Amino acid sequence: MKSTDICIRGAGIVGRALALLLSRERLRVALVERPVSPAGEATARADVRAYALNGTSRALLESLRCWPDLAAATPVLRMEVQGDRGGALAFGAAEQQVEALGWIVDVPALERRLDDAIDYQPLIERVTTSTPARLSVVCEGRASETRLALGVDYVTTAYPHTAIATRLHGSVPHGGVARQWFSCGEILAFLPLDGPQGNSVAVVWSVEHARVPRLVALSPEEFAKELEIASHQSMGSLTLSADRVAWPLQRSMASRWIGQTDGRSWALAGDAAHAMHPLAGQGLNVGLADAAELARVLGGREYWREPGDLRLLRRYERARQGAVMTMTTTTDILQQLFAREGAVWEGLRNWGLTGVDQLAPLKGWLARQAMGPR
Ligand SMILES: Cc1cc2nc3c(=O)[nH]c(=O)nc-3n(C[C@H](O)[C@H](O)[C@H](O)COP(=O)(O)OP(=O)(O)OC[C@H]3O[C@@H](n4cnc5c(N)ncnc54)[C@H](O)[C@@H]3O)c2cc1C
Repeated sequence: MKSTDICIRGAGIVGRALALLLSRERLRVALVERPVSPAGEATARADVRAYALNGTSRALLESLRCWPDLAAATPVLRMEVQGDRGGALAFGAAEQQVEALGWIVDVPALERRLDDAIDYQPLIERVTTSTPARLSVVCEGRASETRLALGVDYVTTAYPHTAIATRLHGSVPHGGVARQWFSCGEILAFLPLDGPQGNSVAVVWSVEHARVPRLVALSPEEFAKELEIASHQSMGSLTLSADRVAWPLQRSMASRWIGQTDGRSWALAGDAAHAMHPLAGQGLNVGLADAAELARVLGGREYWREPGDLRLLRRYERARQGAVMTMTTTTDILQQLFAREGAVWEGLRNWGLTGVDQLAPLKGWLARQAMGPR
């Protein structure tokens, strides 16, 4: 391969999407993947999660020809949020005059689509160690070793909750409804899978750390029973269809997103730059927006600028840092509002949910924020 323009470290969804976007700008990319040992290959498990993606992410992935089929990208036709003292809020796609409020995308299906597209792109080379390049983009996720080696602070606040993710079949179809229940700081989400007629859901249950060992040690049947109770049997009787995987939750923001170390330029993107609570389903949407902006800035650069030009990279940092901070803070405020104990807070949040439900303009604005610009 000729000299590399950009080295992308980390081949998660953000790293893979960025590689495709940059190759579209005729830049030569080395994509650094973690080497998989033969033993690791045998035990590697598919991600049990499914992501809520907004219209902007969909448009980006469609432009890369990586949007999964209908069965793996289920449209959300309605969203129902239940508070812990009778408060409730519901959004409908028809009421918002949109085709869908968002899409629940199967993670392994999306990863396969990205891999297939990369296989057909001659400007992307898959490598297992980093390659000298005009610019390195770090997409290694929250626990990035490269970010650490660069000496960048990753300012982190740990939430007192862990998310347990799994999948379920219900005896009642989901009807394209995404459901969320808030209860004393804990949040349970059922995200519809397998297309509009499906009866499977991806589950994200954010519970206090202390409850996790007991919940993951329960038999699949016992765990499903706990979820039937927590979900008020909205999908009838439940059967677990995947492993349970736990993620401790945190809010993080890198102090710097771009820089030059030993004369080499670097930039951070995706979870390597920021992490947020999954309650609003925004982490990957925000990471894909980073990738889109970086590709736009690099693709549109003046002809005399190198891709590692710091002035150029500052445009990317300026464009993304503020937007991500707003999203991280909004998610954090929501988390705090639902975690506070005491009758006053309980009353306030439940009154707030029902109040918003009755205020059409505010509700419309909230729905548009969640759906992303169209
Ligand atoms: C329970 C849960 C539910 C979520 N739900 C949603 C949702 O509904 N919607 C949404 O938008 N977001 C959601 N998110 C957030 C989403 O998971 C992340 O924002 C997204 O995965 C970030 O992608 P990434 O590519 O930046 O990082 P990652 O997915 O962490 O990928 C990083 C990649 O880099 C690799 N890597 C790390 N170090 C190295 C190294 N040294 N060398 C080479 N490779 C390396 C890793 O192996 C990995 O492949 C959720 C998160 C959680 C925890």
